[in-house]
Amino acid sequence: MKNKLLYIGFIAILFAIGFYLARMSNDEVQLIKRARILLGTVVEIQVRDKDGKKAETSIEKAFGEIKRIDNLFSTFNEDGPIWKLNRSQDTLINVDPEIFNLMVLSDSVYNLTDGFFDVSLNKLLTTWGFDGDNPSLPADDKLRSALLNSGWNNIELFEENSFKRSANTELNFGAIAKGYAVDRAIDILIKFGINSALVNAGGEIKTIGNDWVIGIQHPRNQNQVIEKVNLGGMSVATSGDYERYFELNGKRYHHILNPKTGYPADSLIGVTVLNKSCTIADALATAVFVLGQSKGLNLIENLPGTEAMIIDNQMNKMYSAGFKKFISGER
Ligand code: ADP
Ligand code: MG
Repeated sequence: MKNKLLYIGFIAILFAIGFYLARMSNDEVQLIKRARILLGTVVEIQVRDKDGKKAETSIEKAFGEIKRIDNLFSTFNEDGPIWKLNRSQDTLINVDPEIFNLMVLSDSVYNLTDGFFDVSLNKLLTTWGFDGDNPSLPADDKLRSALLNSGWNNIELFEENSFKRSANTELNFGAIAKGYAVDRAIDILIKFGINSALVNAGGEIKTIGNDWVIGIQHPRNQNQVIEKVNLGGMSVATSGDYERYFELNGKRYHHILNPKTGYPADSLIGVTVLNKSCTIADALATAVFVLGQSKGLNLIENLPGTEAMIIDNQMNKMYSAGFKKFISGER
């Protein structure tokens, strides 16, 4: 599954790794880096600590937590709850509290973004084939029917840990689960007493400590960094039209969909969001990508503790008012 896509992702991410700049304050400190394929992408963890064994153990536990979250939220895991509920005909569904919590958060982001962020688009995504190796332009009638069977208006959060839905509406947490996994992995590293670390799940990144510089990939040249940021306790998430796409008659079709039309959102090509929570940064990067420049930046300016960099399809770069103070002076 997704071999080609994973390969492309791997190159891109390996490149980005070269730009994390750790200032060694002490010679005894070891930098340990590990990478695994999880959440449909490459997940990388770096820890700096004097105690190599503690670093190794904490990394192992953090990967364990990411794997647990991957199993819980994956649409591909046949033993997992999302795969099962996406194939059941039940209309009243009890879910794991952790899934319910992310649904509650996703509901808030849905409301905040006029419905442009929506974790119930799985029917649309599978109709395009963006869940697999060979996405293609769907026929009009197929798209129409997928659109009817997608959308948060078909979902009603009911009691604690249960929701109602119209039977054909399926969930997909692809726009938020990576950020959530990064937050949880960082929590594990903190519990182990680690005070310098970085977790990167396919471009959704959070760090512990101030000595990390993050390179944000150029949306049209994967060997180039378009901006370098110093997070200082924030997380960063990037959504782009270059992660999963195909081209047809000179037009690019990619995996971030406008829930109102069922087609890929096409006014922007890259959106980077900063927030303390990687979960929220991840969700907002996808949301702003669909909202477009004016509504997207307006949303960000109204959210405390949130900044964004937006690149439109003419390669114009735009920033929220406070983004520039995170830009790193490192060259
Ligand atoms: P990436 O996974 O490349 O980091 P995103 O965080 O933007 O990028 O997530 C994109 C994924 O989110 C898609 O692959 C799909 O599963 C899902 N998705 C697509 N459009 C939307 C949308 N409008 N709202 C919420 N999720 C979406
Ligand atoms: Mg996202």
